[in-house]
Amino acid sequence: MDSNDRLKERYYKVLDSLPDHVFIFSESGIYIDVYGGEENATGFDCKPFIGHSLNDVAPPEMAAQFLSYITKALAENATQVVKYHFANQNMIKLPAEVMPPEELWFEGTIKPLPITENGERTVVWMARNITQRYYLEKQLKKLSETDEMTGVSNRRAFMSYLAKELKKFRRYHVDVSFLMLDIDRFKAINDQLGHQSGDEVIKHVAKLCQLEVREVDYLGRIGGEEFAIILAHTGEDKALEIAERIRESISSASCEVEDYSVNVTVSIGVSQMRTTDDSIKFVLSRADKAMYHSKVTGRNKVTVYSRGLKNSKVNLTSENRIVLRSS
Ligand code: GH3
Ligand code: MG
Ligand code: MG
Repeated sequence: MDSNDRLKERYYKVLDSLPDHVFIFSESGIYIDVYGGEENATGFDCKPFIGHSLNDVAPPEMAAQFLSYITKALAENATQVVKYHFANQNMIKLPAEVMPPEELWFEGTIKPLPITENGERTVVWMARNITQRYYLEKQLKKLSETDEMTGVSNRRAFMSYLAKELKKFRRYHVDVSFLMLDIDRFKAINDQLGHQSGDEVIKHVAKLCQLEVREVDYLGRIGGEEFAIILAHTGEDKALEIAERIRESISSASCEVEDYSVNVTVSIGVSQMRTTDDSIKFVLSRADKAMYHSKVTGRNKVTVYSRGLKNSKVNLTSENRIVLRSS
């Protein structure tokens, strides 16, 4: 073995020890070389793919997608970073003895190479197994969007969803309605039963709202004892019916906390999205005004926004109905 061969052998050893897979592809999607990949979670080195094309190895849609990444990297002469996933139905052809996990996520970094092979340009494609990171990120995202106490969406997630829905509405003009709910005389519940019992009441209301909304709707806790709901494909008339149903379900189910039965009620404001709303603040403000109208006109009420509504002062005189449960 001359020194050149020894050097080559050393390079190959280094390349094959890389934890991530390194593929060299031609511009037409032929596997020219494959190195490394011990951490790819299948244990399969992919070397038998050398000389074959992506079309031989991957389902047609996946092969076309992968080829488009290669084409883009070469056309723009720029590194592409892409995320892709293999699942049972969507997997490259593996030898029968290779048992891959049900789902694998990869991050691919694709960079043009200054090498031609049989007259074709080439790219290097590094594939990093990011399955664990993917699930961790998903979990963190879920946590960051969820209100810990009630399990519904928190204010931030809700407002960002509302903004997306408004954008969609302004584009497609399919009715969307918005409800704002505030628990009536909640301070009195806190004062008489304590903050912890107050929390139980908030959870109770969240649960009842959740039961009343459909899969396509979106419920969030947007304040201490304030909730909001986005009703998809729903105009104001239908939204009023749904809001009435929610109001009724809350007022008719008492919340049992410790030795007490608390009759909880909510005041609700309803507003439909309008094409003139170029920010969520408009729909929020209309629903808020309607909700306060429900407060000043007696609470345990639903109001649909209309132009005549004024900003009124809330009447704080009535009592909460908290009764000691008889055992
Ligand atoms: P109104 O009928 O006018 O709504 O009267 P209210 O007493 O409910 O008044 P308001 O909506 O202003 O009261 C909100 C109270 O909710 C004030 C605050 O102390 C309490 N609160 C806010 N967040 C929480 C929470 O997470 N837990 C509990 N227990 N109380 C909270
Ligand atoms: Mg409030
Ligand atoms: Mg309140």
